[in-house]
Amino acid sequence: MRVLAVVATVALLAAGCTPAPPPPVDAPRPSPAASAAGSAPAAPECDPRKSWRPTQGLRIAAGSRMAEIRERGHLILGTSQDTLLFSSRNPFTGAIEGFDVDMAREISRAVFGSPDKVRILVIPRSRRVEAVAKGEVDLAINTMTTNCARWQQVDFSTVYYEAGQKVLVGKDSTVTRIEDLHDRPVCAADGSTSLENLAKVDPKPIPVARRDFGECLVAFQQNEVEAISTDDTILAGLAAQDPYAKVVGPPFTREPYAIAVSKEHRDLTEFVNAVLERMRADGTWKRVYDRWLHDSGPAPKPPAADYR
Ligand code: GLU
Repeated sequence: MRVLAVVATVALLAAGCTPAPPPPVDAPRPSPAASAAGSAPAAPECDPRKSWRPTQGLRIAAGSRMAEIRERGHLILGTSQDTLLFSSRNPFTGAIEGFDVDMAREISRAVFGSPDKVRILVIPRSRRVEAVAKGEVDLAINTMTTNCARWQQVDFSTVYYEAGQKVLVGKDSTVTRIEDLHDRPVCAADGSTSLENLAKVDPKPIPVARRDFGECLVAFQQNEVEAISTDDTILAGLAAQDPYAKVVGPPFTREPYAIAVSKEHRDLTEFVNAVLERMRADGTWKRVYDRWLHDSGPAPKPPAADYR
């Protein structure tokens, strides 16, 4: 089946045609009834949590993207180096480590039989989607929210973590939720959903963009901004580096994390989903959680897989 699908794709490309696109996520999709009747398309349909079903499991077929990666000898991961607990540089060893890096190590284990075949390319958040789409990295695993806008340029795995956006303020601050920061400067990284979400808050804070959240922490410590707002996961890592900071508020968004993969390699997305299935089932997901996120409390159940 896989070989046939590849041959069919190549034939279509050779003929100058585009292979049938995956079900659109942001684009309007007519309902079967509407198409049959030739009437106006139904409302746009998108569920960014639904990914490609791992039909081949962990099998690596000849000619697959995984076989090419195995041939190359390493997996290229795009991530950040300043997201404590998820992907940050250990000052003693120089290695970049955390929950997200361990996700990549499990994929490496499934491809190579060893978790150590991961090469990390540090990319700013604003370039993650582009780096995956252009093939500079095999995967981006970087506290990255799966959403419809991003699905237009890259594919995503199933959800591997559920985060939500909160606020970090000074220990003495009376702020308890994002709405309390009306007309106040609040920092978030360029290219993050956090920055976009700030623009939707009512009453409005003043969004201040920095290249990454480490730079937001510096801006906060230099009193250039009153707060930082992003996922609770990232804020926990920032607060751990600053005894004068605290994280407040209920989460005001949902940020489901997934692994970004090029649209050209659906077989790799399926394979990653098979790895995530194994991690959920055999306790590896929980072990990775306990290793990095134990301070946030006992491990919840891993997010369930949802397929197209
Ligand atoms: N999860 C959000 C996003 O993907 C914010 C954190 C980040 O940028 O990594 O945009």
